[in-house]
Amino acid sequence: MNFDHSKLSFDLQKRIQNYFITHILPRNREWYDYMARAESSEPPFLKQLRQQARSEGLWNLALPNLADDEPGTRLSNLEFAPIAEIMGRIPWASQLFNCHAPDVPNMEILQLFGTEDQKERWLRPLLEGEIRSAFAMTEPNVASSDATNINTRIEKHKDHYLINGHKWFAAGAGHPDCKFIVVMGVSNPEGTRTKRHSMVIVPIDAPGIDIIRNVKVFNHIDMGTPNTELKLKNVKVSLQNLIGQEGSGFKIAQARLGPARIHHCMRSIGQCEVLIELMMARAQERVAFGKPIIDYDTTQRRIAESRLEIELARLLVYKTAWLLDSQGSRAARREISLIKVAVARAFHKIADRAVQLFGAMGVTEDTPIANAFSWSRAFRIYDGPDEVHLRVIFKLEQKPSYSLGDSPYLYRQQSNEQD
Ligand SMILES: Cc1cc2nc3c(=O)[nH]c(=O)nc-3n(C[C@H](O)[C@H](O)[C@H](O)COP(=O)(O)OP(=O)(O)OC[C@H]3O[C@@H](n4cnc5c(N)ncnc54)[C@H](O)[C@@H]3O)c2cc1C
Repeated sequence: MNFDHSKLSFDLQKRIQNYFITHILPRNREWYDYMARAESSEPPFLKQLRQQARSEGLWNLALPNLADDEPGTRLSNLEFAPIAEIMGRIPWASQLFNCHAPDVPNMEILQLFGTEDQKERWLRPLLEGEIRSAFAMTEPNVASSDATNINTRIEKHKDHYLINGHKWFAAGAGHPDCKFIVVMGVSNPEGTRTKRHSMVIVPIDAPGIDIIRNVKVFNHIDMGTPNTELKLKNVKVSLQNLIGQEGSGFKIAQARLGPARIHHCMRSIGQCEVLIELMMARAQERVAFGKPIIDYDTTQRRIAESRLEIELARLLVYKTAWLLDSQGSRAARREISLIKVAVARAFHKIADRAVQLFGAMGVTEDTPIANAFSWSRAFRIYDGPDEVHLRVIFKLEQKPSYSLGDSPYLYRQQSNEQD
């Protein structure tokens, strides 16, 4: 394993950091004030910042497999990791560099499985940052952590698919720039468990799409990437809108979730760093019972435990990125699950400590802590709940090649025979 930063990554880290400090952080309060009262998706200055980032070459940094004629930097996952961390320090920064979910994982599936026509019509404008997209797998009426349960019907007719179903948490579908949704549904009901589903591109303005609401997460709507509930009633799409093969929906979902998960983990580590910085600043200034709270052992332990957890999480994320780059997503399956559990847990524990350390202020809207607390809690569910990843980790645990009785580690050979 080699975690050295390449020259390209190092150079881009410096440039992104500089852009972050000069153009993004100074607008953070303005962004927050706008979003707190906004009905709409983003403050007007976002577009201008995006154009500027693009003109400086800080664009599409999260896509290792860009074609020669596609705009972007072609960083590997490992090269992107420290950059995603900088962007992750505040929730709206990734969009400025066209590195945000759910568009990046959607771009990846179109790169991998899309036809030339789909690439031209849907992938290109996403790469250019002209449109947004959404991904609709989860359904309120079935346990969607098991993707094989997905119930929406995608029926094949002579020249079109007919789609009927009910989705929620289709992140981004309620954004005004969203032009299409990748919908997963059952196309081959007679197929085996993992070969029954397909994915199709559904234009957002297709007749029959009924947007019901943007669901609140812990009573809060993320207007930038709203979690939309919608129904599809007799929605017709062309046969050309099928992604990959019929029956390959489950496989595509697996391929899509690898990059989606690792990017969320990378960004979350950036948020953890901010939480530590805030805890340190607060603990040095706040005096209780005659001394700054930083002088209390409990505070020092909180900070030290947080540092320990971040460093462990980061190393595991780097290892996973390195595996993805060098051996592909199948080889990184176990590590993707490991980081999904480890980072979400670390993030949530650190956010919880920050809430406690800040006292009442920690639960208000005056700091990013309450937001980090609820977001990190949700992170233990989205991209697959902890339990599902632990199950994968367990399944991939190597069995020993000996029976216990023959184990050379036992000091005495064991026999199963009854006395
Ligand atoms: C903020 C947010 C954003 C999201 N974005 C998207 C998106 O863009 N697109 C999309 O399609 N979906 C999205 N989701 C949905 C998310 O992926 C699902 O909520 C998740 O897969 C879990 O499915 P479920 O809610 O149906 O829970 P269920 O499947 O009903 O599971 C509920 C609970 O059952 C337990 N459980 C499940 N399986 C096991 C097991 N094997 N062993 C032990 N316990 C188990 C777990 O505790 C689990 O949390 C998002 C969710 C959130 C909160």
